[in-house]
This record gives sequence, C-alpha cells and structure tokens, in this order.
Amino acid sequence: MTETVTAHTKGLYLETFGCQMNVSDSEKIVSLLKGLGYRAVPDPALADLILLNTCSVRAKAESKVYDYLGRYRLRKRQNSRLIIGVGGCVAQQEGERLLKKVPYVDLVFGTHSLHLLPELVRAAERGERRSVTDFIDTETRLNLFPEASDTGELTRFVTIMQGCDNFCSYCIVPYVRGREISRRSAEILAEIREMAGRGVREITLLGQNVNSYGLKSPEELHFADLIREISAIDGIERIRFTTSHSRDISPELIACFAEIPKLCGHIHLPAQSGSDAVLAQMNRGYTRSEYLATVAALRRARPGLAVTGDIIVGFPGETEADYEATLSLLEEVRYADLFSFLYSERPETAAARFPGQLTRTVKQQRLDRLQRRQREITREICDGMVGTVQRVLIEGHSRRGDQLTGRTDANRVVNVAGDPSLIGRMIDVTIIHSYPNSLLGELYREG
Ligand code: SAM
Ligand code: SF4
Repeated sequence: MTETVTAHTKGLYLETFGCQMNVSDSEKIVSLLKGLGYRAVPDPALADLILLNTCSVRAKAESKVYDYLGRYRLRKRQNSRLIIGVGGCVAQQEGERLLKKVPYVDLVFGTHSLHLLPELVRAAERGERRSVTDFIDTETRLNLFPEASDTGELTRFVTIMQGCDNFCSYCIVPYVRGREISRRSAEILAEIREMAGRGVREITLLGQNVNSYGLKSPEELHFADLIREISAIDGIERIRFTTSHSRDISPELIACFAEIPKLCGHIHLPAQSGSDAVLAQMNRGYTRSEYLATVAALRRARPGLAVTGDIIVGFPGETEADYEATLSLLEEVRYADLFSFLYSERPETAAARFPGQLTRTVKQQRLDRLQRRQREITREICDGMVGTVQRVLIEGHSRRGDQLTGRTDANRVVNVAGDPSLIGRMIDVTIIHSYPNSLLGELYREG
C-alpha cells in the first residue's frame, strides 16, 4: 500500500488496529487522501500526516492507541507541521474528549465520518483542530458505503453491512459503529462483478453480523440469495463470509453449503461461551444445544466443514462449572481455530454493571488452560490433514519468498514449491507436513 513520496506529494503513515472492518476502512482512507496529494509511507519518520484507525472492543486495544500516540508526541515537538489524527472506534467513543486529553492530536473522525476526512485534514493543514463523530442517517450512509479499492490482489473483502443491533451485554460495537444497515444488493453485485473483471478470484463478504444481511431491508436480497447471485458471477471461484451469528443461520443458508461448491467449507461462528447461564447473561439469543444443533446441520450440509469461533473467558459471574461447560464445547465442536479473549469491561455496556466481576488472575488462568487445549485440537486437526489432497488457490509467494503460498477451502495456509505461473490458479496439493501456523504441500500428481 506504500508508494514513493515525491516533492509534490505528502507522506501518510496509517496505523490500523482491530478487525477487518478497520482494514477495509484504512484502504478507503488511503484512496480518499490521494486526492489531497498524500501517499502512504512505511515509516512515521517520513510522514506529514499520521493517522491511527482504532479499535475499542477490548480495553487493551484502546490503551494501545494511547501508547502509540505517546510515541508520536516527540515527533510533533520536532515538527510542528506534522498532523496527527485518530479515527475508528476509540475516536467515536471519545470524540472531543480526545482533543482535550491529547493536546497534540489535530483531528478526530468517528466511524460515520470517513467521507469528511479530506475536509478535516485540510482544516488541520490550516492549523484548525476538529472532531466529527456524529452518526449519519440511513439514506446518507447507504450512499456512502465504502467500496473496496483496487489493490491488485486475488482475494478481496467486500463490506455488505455495517453496525450491529444485537447489543450483546459485553460489547461496545453497537455504541461505536451504530445501527445495523445492509448495503444495497445491486451495488454489492456490481462491485464484485467489477472485481472479477480485474482478476479477483475469491471474495469474503464482511459485516459484524453478515447472516442477518437484508433481514431489515425488504427491498434487498436475503443473505442466501445474495450468495447464490455471487456464485453465478464468472471468474469468482471462492466465496467466504464473516462474522456470522448462530441465531441468524437460516435453513436457506445451510442449503447453500450443500448446493454451492464455490462457497468455501469454513464458517466463523462465535459461541462466546458453552454455558447456558452465561449465554443468557450475554444476551446471545441461543442456548448451547441450539448452537450445537446449528453446527451439526451445517456439517450435514457440508461434511468436514471447518468451524472457527470466538470465546470470552471470565464473563461476570462465570462459575467454575460454566467455564468447564465452555471447555467441553471445544471438545464437541472441535474448532479448527479459536480466538479467545479475557472478558474486558467496556463503557456503556450492560455487563459493566453486572455483579461478580472476576479477578484478573482467575480470568488469565482460565484463558491459559483453554488456549492450551485449543492448540492441541488445532494441531490434531492439522496433523490429520497430512496425506490428504487439498484444493488450494495460489495467492502469491510465501513470506520467505522461495515457495508459493495459498489457502485451502477451509482457509488454512499452505506453502508449496512450484512455478510462479501457478499464481491465481486453483491447484490440488498433497499435504506433506503440518507446522503450527501453516501446512507444507507438494503439487498433486495422479497415480
Ligand atoms: N459480531 C461478531 C460476533 O458477534 O461474533 C463479533 C465482533 S467483535 C468485534 C469480535 C469478538 O470480540 C467477539 O466475538 C467477542 O468474542 C470479542 N469481544 C467483544 N467484546 C468483548 C469484551 N468486552 N471483552 C472481551 N472480548 C470481547
Ligand atoms: Fe458485538 Fe454481539 Fe454485535 Fe457481535 S453480535 S458485534 S458481539 S453486539
């Protein structure tokens, strides 16, 4: 994403925290600021403008932002023309307060203000300090949905919805990203057709709760129909989506896994806990047995489906028995991978007021044990893949550069020796070794 800065251009150093939504927004930021003569640079020392695109889903992510700002303080002292800006979820949460707390921050833009960024940067160039964190109305939001920029990659993310209405009791997302809105189906399909025309082979549909896409917008397609339409686009060979909510997995979506080979054999389906009592307190809208029934139905539709998930450990009031129920969920689901977190108290959320907050020590011990067990399960699953033949989309050169790299249908990284002409192609690979973070394969030869 970085380019050479010439005498006519200015350097933009952009630091992105958090989820794929922020990564997509950052791409948009780079393309918006090109119009003002800014080009992305790889080092803050080369920057005229430093922007932090922030995440506040856990307290740790939020405090990281202040650590980074601390590092830039000296730069600002040495170069008073340097502009420093903060966007994303922390910006949305803090707004004007951030300008007061950190006097060398020049601009603050919230999650609904991306389109105003060029104006804010121009104001900062004139020496004005501003913060914009207003939520905008649905119609305006629909017209401003960020389109993915052309990065020349074979795999791309496409944002299909924003915000969330679920109000899980621990989660800050509905407060900082606003109400859930589904992007227009026609626009999504047009964007994917254009991507396919440019050589994109795999797309991942993106949203906080993708499988509720269209439920509140009768004029748009339902999620399963959207997938069917995308699968008919020539050139698109793989479709993925993230994140899904177990409560909103419809029979039509399950049928897609049975009927659409382009839909990859992987779903990210966070459970958050294996205990019914905790799930109810979390306001997740499903029980453990409903979640397990959904996983079973998905696996009946697509045998071998890889399931990944998110778990929160140490939710207020979580007993030893609740925690054991979560551990046993790992055994029943056998997650291919799991993202697990210590419960983090977030401002405004209902759970911050719940009794029974656990100590850091208890939470950490529970998390360590859960992560140890999940590492074993992941290892067992990867070891079990050795000797199998996997269909891999070759995406480019491996990190070390001496091999090609791609991902299996289930989204596991595979490195394989081969000719660079294979980049962009789907090939069969025999897995010959499994490492903690990747698989090693060789080109499959019949017979
Ligand atoms: N919408 C997605 C869903 O419901 O599964 C998740 C979006 S959230 C940005 C990503 C993950 O962060 C959640 O699945 C949850 O596990 C975790 N998370 C959210 N709030 C948290 C909190 N207060 N403490 C710890 N983890 C949290
Ligand atoms: Fe947060 Fe729940 Fe919405 Fe996911 S579904 S973003 S966890 S409120």
